[in-house]
Amino acid sequence: MIDPIWFDPSQCLIDGTWQAAKSGELLPLVNPSDGSTICSIARGKADDVDAAVTAAHSALNGEWGRMTALERGRVLTRIGQLVLERVDELAVLEAMDVGKPLTQARADAVALARYMEFYGGAADKVHGETIPYLDGYTVYTLREPHGVTGHIVPWNYPMQIIGRSVGAALAMGNATVLKPAEEACLTALAFANIAMEAGLPDGALNVVPGLGAEAGAALSSHPGIQHLSFTGSVPTGALVQAAAARNVVPVTLELGGKSPQLVFDDADLDAAMPFLVNAGIQNAGQTCSASSRILVQRGVYDEVCNRMAIAYEQLTVGPAAENLRLGPLISVRQKEIVTGFLNKGADLTVAAQGVIVDHAPSAGAYVRPTLFKDVPANHPLAQDEIFGPVQVIIPFDTEADALEIANSTEYGLVASVWTRDGARQMRLAKALKSGQVFINNYGAGGGVELPFGGVGKSGHGREKGFEALFGFSQLKTVAAFHG
Ligand code: NAD
Repeated sequence: MIDPIWFDPSQCLIDGTWQAAKSGELLPLVNPSDGSTICSIARGKADDVDAAVTAAHSALNGEWGRMTALERGRVLTRIGQLVLERVDELAVLEAMDVGKPLTQARADAVALARYMEFYGGAADKVHGETIPYLDGYTVYTLREPHGVTGHIVPWNYPMQIIGRSVGAALAMGNATVLKPAEEACLTALAFANIAMEAGLPDGALNVVPGLGAEAGAALSSHPGIQHLSFTGSVPTGALVQAAAARNVVPVTLELGGKSPQLVFDDADLDAAMPFLVNAGIQNAGQTCSASSRILVQRGVYDEVCNRMAIAYEQLTVGPAAENLRLGPLISVRQKEIVTGFLNKGADLTVAAQGVIVDHAPSAGAYVRPTLFKDVPANHPLAQDEIFGPVQVIIPFDTEADALEIANSTEYGLVASVWTRDGARQMRLAKALKSGQVFINNYGAGGGVELPFGGVGKSGHGREKGFEALFGFSQLKTVAAFHG
């Protein structure tokens, strides 16, 4: 067994038991920092998903389903405590598996613990209401779980996305089936291990690793699933929604974006500068809420371009374990996608690029972070999600121009406005087509507590915060006539 993997990564967790995929088949898990194989994971397929869904239904009819909200909350809180105790081990796993620098991997592990604490504390605070009605009636509502929820998770932030979706679903009393991404499975399996250790009843969380077209498709089309949560690409999200539609179940889609930051002439540039760059290059740009478009008013345009260029020239890229500003991308395939976009930008002006360290292994999935300036708002690099460390700077003249450009993509996940003008802050917060708007900041420290989700092709439904608990439950109305 490869240190620091303290569990057998080649198995699925079904009904509280670690077991090989029924086919016995395995998939290699690759370390994107050097191209080496870390270990093998189970290649779960439809029959494994079926067993997991059956186990989840049994959990609802068993110990898990009988737990009070308070007891569920205590289990989640215990999971959070155990995650906190293992933050360093989880960070090493995530860094090795995803290629993210250790500092970021550690922050993700802390966020996973925080999700468990938040949803553990919230589990017994969601309640219905009484509704004044006709004479002789008492009417009230109950918040009930959907039943069995499916969670299809991507490779970019496994721990954070598991925390926000599985955590909220469990808090509301659902039983869950998790399909992690085939490129990055280790922390999903480690998390399941920890959850069992913390006393989560058998079957409340089942994990079936495998390929999207096999395990993922089987989960999203399974008739025993009552709610689906998907984070990933637009085409796959559309497939998942179509599969959910055939079974008439609700689906939450979180599909990425092309999130803008709007910098006005009156902005506090010293405050803005770290956010402008970090929000684009964090996790090597493989972030659904990455800020890949920087819109800058003419009066400060040259200064912002110059200051961002200086920051880019200081960006170093290398193996995750070295904890530089950027690690590799998730895979050589993702590197090819990003390189394809860089080639599409051959007609643009490169303002600056970061540096890949000389000793970076040639089999690693490294790309140089690249900043383009003077980019037309309708250029493909200003419209399409790249999912790599690439940002474009676009000039604008007026507030109306900025708004038009900001709202011109098919996405709408996150936006930010940098200005000291309070009225402008309020106007733009309303007018921007975006699930979240930040004023004079970006991302607000991760925002476990802040409802998150998109408009347009960024998806629909909200995760994170208290709001997610409404999404992972359904309302029952009880009307009692007593005369
Ligand atoms: P993807 O959407 O195909 O994969 C995400 C998850 O969906 C994985 O767990 C995968 O196994 C699963 N999946 C794949 N096909 C499926 C299917 N037919 N049915 C059910 N589940 C399925 O994304 P990808 O191929 O890993 O990456 C491609 C692009 O997607 C990236 O370049 C990036 O632009 C985007 N992406 C966005 C996010 C995000 O957070 N918004 C995350 C990952 C990828």
